Amino acid sequence: MIEELERIKKEVLDCKKCELYKTRNNPVIGEGSVEAKIILVGEAPGASEDKTGRPFCGAAGEVLDELLRSTKIKREEVYITNLLKCRPPENRDPQSEEIEACTPYLERQIKIIKPEVICPLGRYSMRFLMEKYGLKEQIEGISKIHGKVFESRSLFGGVKIIPLYHPAVATYNPNLKEILKRDFSVLKSC
Ligand code: URA
Ligand code: SF4
Repeated sequence: MIEELERIKKEVLDCKKCELYKTRNNPVIGEGSVEAKIILVGEAPGASEDKTGRPFCGAAGEVLDELLRSTKIKREEVYITNLLKCRPPENRDPQSEEIEACTPYLERQIKIIKPEVICPLGRYSMRFLMEKYGLKEQIEGISKIHGKVFESRSLFGGVKIIPLYHPAVATYNPNLKEILKRDFSVLKSC
């Protein structure tokens, strides 16, 4: 399992499958437990992540840590990664060709870890993962379906998809932090 993840890491470090390799400093592969029951999937690295190569280590990461603490889940127990492994310039939205080029890495990470719960953080990850897990018909705006538990089948058995707001929203809207805390508390019973 660990070798497989290492292989992905090597490939991502050399990856030039989309334009983002030109402007990134460090790709962000992901980190956490290979035996995680929960995978959190953010959108793409920001400036701090691009500098360090670690997911959620800047302002959004502080919010994420607070949310995990409020749920009494340790960061090391989960696996944290992103839809895109390289930072889009100026943190612009991911483009569809970048999502298409990059998500085979995410799919392989999920196949290796075989989580029971996948939490997309934000609407791009939500859309991609719900489509991938046969939930296309149930996609609505994230303000409607955040915190809902969707049951799906995967090659390795049942998996729950729980879309959540992206933690960065809490840095500019404190009300959403309370909503995020409530949504995260669902993970306790997963
Ligand atoms: N935002 C993300 O979506 N991912 C990170 O790793 C950091 C900020
Ligand atoms: Fe490769 Fe993904 Fe980085 Fe694009 S974003 S260069 S596909 S690792």
